[in-house]
Amino acid sequence: MTTRTHSTVYNEKAPERCVNTDTVPVKIGALFLSMLVFAITLGSFAQAPIARFIDANGKTVAEVQVQYQNEHVYLPVDAVKQVIDPETTHQYNHPRQRLTLKTKDREIRLQIGRPTVTIDPGAEPVTLATPPVIIAQQPMLPIDFFIQLLPILNDVEVIYNSRLNRLQIRPKDTLIPIETNGTQDLTIIVDPGHGGPDDRGCAGSTGILEKDIALTFAKQLQWTSRQHGIQVYLTRETDTQKTHFERIQVGKQKRGQLFLSLHCNASFSPHEKGIRIYVNNPKGQLRFPSTTKPALTGQRLKILAQANYLKQSKDLAYALQTELNFLTETPIQIIDLPLIALSDTYMPAVVLELGYLSNVEDLEKLSNSEYTASVAQAMTRAFQRYISAINQNIPPEGVEPQTPTSSR
Ligand SMILES: [Zn+2]
Repeated sequence: MTTRTHSTVYNEKAPERCVNTDTVPVKIGALFLSMLVFAITLGSFAQAPIARFIDANGKTVAEVQVQYQNEHVYLPVDAVKQVIDPETTHQYNHPRQRLTLKTKDREIRLQIGRPTVTIDPGAEPVTLATPPVIIAQQPMLPIDFFIQLLPILNDVEVIYNSRLNRLQIRPKDTLIPIETNGTQDLTIIVDPGHGGPDDRGCAGSTGILEKDIALTFAKQLQWTSRQHGIQVYLTRETDTQKTHFERIQVGKQKRGQLFLSLHCNASFSPHEKGIRIYVNNPKGQLRFPSTTKPALTGQRLKILAQANYLKQSKDLAYALQTELNFLTETPIQIIDLPLIALSDTYMPAVVLELGYLSNVEDLEKLSNSEYTASVAQAMTRAFQRYISAINQNIPPEGVEPQTPTSSR
């Protein structure tokens, strides 16, 4: 979001790089947060690695100490009690290396070194990606056991984030295709920021451009959403320059009901990283604490018009935050700002910045199709969360913005 919402400065020595200069209050807060996160990260290195099980709303259900062997993650058998059923009993036959778990009126049988799990009664045998092993004379279950068995035993689905060793347990059928019989639940307008030769947005040290990342990701998001029955239209399909007005027109023509503008970020600080969500709020913190009163009354009116959708925009932002937090080390921030970019958008609207092109980690992630696919899936789940909340006429249960300390 470099051109419309704020000014962009091009560094003469590195013309490829652009930096947002007008979010200083935000940046100082973020710098403090980064330092805090750094301190916490240092602390966590001293601790044993854990797997975190979380529910559909991002709340931690269980934290289990894990062990690594040959880069695979193993959990102790007791984790089954914590995660699947506290009434679980287990027997381990040492000479035969056989492990039997009794849970939920079922008997689960495993053998050390063998990938097959039998479940009696009433379930097909499961083949694990990694067999159970013995570590320090204790039988240990691979994390795949939980990923595969939880849905069978508890009628849930499990999403695994291997990078963060995080498993989300959510009610089944939240990501199955919705019947599309011509009556769409919701039409979403996704706006890939920038475009064309003169509006490239930010650039990373690898030469990658914001306009290209935004378009590639928007197409991936459109594809993923459509797979799940959600209609998504893009404000641009190619590398073309479009005015703000033209983008809004697409939204009107397609009868959009949600507007999501996709951008990337850049900072002078190479440590600044992560996804940011912006909601257009005329009462939000001004980017330019100015002593001169803005004379643009017309513009102010437009911002106020968008403010009618503030509640819904925030609901969408919370839904996005809740789902995307699953992918990030630290909770994603929602930032309220008076955003001119969204001011003419007569529907709930959110700006999402996918990451910092000035940060090496973010650059690497955004160039990784597996990562971007998981972001697209998380955002699709956020759309579904938002849609089902509208259908049930209740606000989506959002996780309020947290400080990094409270996530521990
Ligand atoms: Zn941008």
